[in-house]
Parts: sequence; C-alpha cells; structure tokens
Amino acid sequence: MKKLLPVVLLMLTIKVSAQNAQAIHQKAILVDTHNDVISNELITKVDLSKRQTTGNFDLVRAKEGGLDVQLFSIWCGGDYGNGRAFKFANREIDSLYALIKRNPGKMVMVRNAAELQSAVAKKQFAAMIGVEGGHMIEDRLDYIDALAKRGMSYLTLTWNNSTSWATSAYDERYHRDSLKHLGLTDFGKQIVHHLNDLGVMVDVSHVGEQTFYDVLATTNKPVIASHSCAYVFNPHQRNLKDAQLKALAKNGGVVFVNFYSGFLDSTYGKKEARFLKQHRPELDSLIKIYHDFDLASIRLNAIHKSESDQLRPPLSLLIKHIDYIAKLIGVDHVGIGSDFDGAESYPLGMDDVTDYPKITEELVKLHYSEADIDKILGGNFIRVLKANTGK
Ligand SMILES: [Zn+2]
Repeated sequence: MKKLLPVVLLMLTIKVSAQNAQAIHQKAILVDTHNDVISNELITKVDLSKRQTTGNFDLVRAKEGGLDVQLFSIWCGGDYGNGRAFKFANREIDSLYALIKRNPGKMVMVRNAAELQSAVAKKQFAAMIGVEGGHMIEDRLDYIDALAKRGMSYLTLTWNNSTSWATSAYDERYHRDSLKHLGLTDFGKQIVHHLNDLGVMVDVSHVGEQTFYDVLATTNKPVIASHSCAYVFNPHQRNLKDAQLKALAKNGGVVFVNFYSGFLDSTYGKKEARFLKQHRPELDSLIKIYHDFDLASIRLNAIHKSESDQLRPPLSLLIKHIDYIAKLIGVDHVGIGSDFDGAESYPLGMDDVTDYPKITEELVKLHYSEADIDKILGGNFIRVLKANTGK
C-alpha cells in the first residue's frame, strides 16, 4: 500500500493536469494562422461543413479541437504567371465565401480584432484570409487593394518562388548566384508600406534572410511569420535563425510554429525522400490524378500509413520548437500556424485539427501559466492583428 501511494498520487496529478489543460484550452481563443485546405478544395471538392475522413480540417473537427479562428491560405504555385495568379487567388477566395454562405450563422469572415472577438463571443467560427505568395499581386498595387477589399489579412511576400521585388528563402539558398536582385527592391519597400497603410499584415514566412531583414528595416507595424519553425533544430531554409527570431521580437512580431515534420525534424527530409523513391510509380500516377505534387504526396503517405507513420517525429519535438522560441524571445512572440492540409506529415498524435488540445496539455505539463498559454494559442495573434488594423 505504501509503495502504491506515490503511483496513485502521480496518476491523480496527471488526471488533474489533463482536466486543467482541457479547461484552459476550451476557454482560450485558439487561432491557427495557416491552413491550405481551400486551395486543395478546388481540386478535391469536399464539403468542409461535413466531417471528412481525409485531410486535416473540416468545420466539425475544428469545433472538436477548440479552434476558434482559422486563417485560410490562398495559394497557387509560382508557375501561375501574370494574368493567371491573381485570378486564381480570387477563385479560391470565392470558394471560401461560398463555404461561409453555406454555413450561415456558424461561420463568418472577420478582418480585425474587434470582429474576431465578436465572432468568438457569438460562437461563430471566424475565417480569415492569408494570401501566400507575392506573385499573386502580379506586381500591381491595385491588386493588393482588391485583395485587401476581399478580406486579405496577411500577404506572405514570397512563396518558394521569388517575385520581381522580393527574394525567397529557396532562391536565396539555391539560386543565389543567378538572382537579379537580393532582398527587397524599392518597389518591394513600397509594397510593405502599402500593406502597412492598408492594415494588412506582412508575412515573412518563405522569404529569404535578406528580404526578412529588409522588411524589418522598412515596416512600421509588427510583422508575422505565419508558419515557420526554429532553425536551431533543423537548418532548413524555411526556418528562422536565432538572430532572426530576436529581430522579430524586437519588431513586436510573432512567429507561428509550423507542424510540418520536414521543418521540425532535421532527419525527416532524407527518410521521406527514400519513401517517395520506393513508391515512385504510384506517386507518379497520383500526380496525374491531382496535378499537384504536394496533394499526391499527402495521398501517398495516407495510403501507406503504417510505413509513413514510422517517419513522423514525436509530438515532443513540436513542443520543443514552441518552448525554445518562447524561452529565447519571450512568450509574447510565439503562436500556432499548423500548415495543416499543406504537408504530407505531422508529428505522431498530431493528425488533424482535433489534436490542438494536446499542445495545451504539454504546455501545462511544462508549467506554462494559463495567461501564457492564452497568448500562445491566440492572444499574440490578436495583439499583432490589432496593431496592424488599428481595431
Ligand atoms: Zn507555405
């Protein structure tokens, strides 16, 4: 009996902390700054108001995961050139508005902190728009105005491809010698000022290091990294070095941690490449169906679940990134930007939007206070949004 007592006490403590975590999670406003489901929906045609067995997001599961606010990524590849990219972005926005229209009273578009908080108070799911890739403005300020009018809350200055006015992380690393310019051009700086004036947040995820520092020297508002991780654990060009994280905090900005295994785990890339190579003929036939490499690879990983599960890092690695950033630059500068529906692999246990409470549970275990957890889950986003929109 004496020997059992510590075990019982331990179990009791775990139970109490889990209940505590659940209560904190339910009470907090949970914001996820990056989800790619809308660009996929144009291809897969699933009804997101109903529970789906594929993908990471639908409105039913979002509710179960305690998700209050989702920034939906509007995205097309760099091969959509001028004349096509802006049009495609608008098609995706149409499809998001159609989803909202099909769910009257349940889902609403919000553009600032006041609207966000009012939607949450009414228990309406708040949708927001993040445009992922400066190529979608086709070098035109009036296209920024048009997208802002439709609800664009952030513009990711580049995707993996550079624009004529900003260089991407991918190009700065792999095509450095052939770049026509490095960082932000004068027009790029004009764009940053224009976004500041409109109250559209500048997103530095995907941009190169030179662009990153040029943005910080230009912007007069706090910026965001909508879906990036810490470079210290994985030297991927998409992750932020310690000096970048510190500079972001100095600007008052926030980094929203990406759940993608390939950014979290430095060993993942090689393992995934081997997996894809082993299933190359099947991958090729899936690419023919989806006309999109990422969607095909997501599907391939799902088909061979038991095999691909072995490539996934533990959930603790995601928490390690969040905790590291919070400790390095302060708990006011970190949040959540899952990249759900945009990647083929996430840590074990992080299967879809129903799994967010696990993050809260882990943070409670690490002795984060409720106030700090509230900031990480959504408070920091609301602060930056308000600083940009003025309301
Ligand atoms: Zn991205």
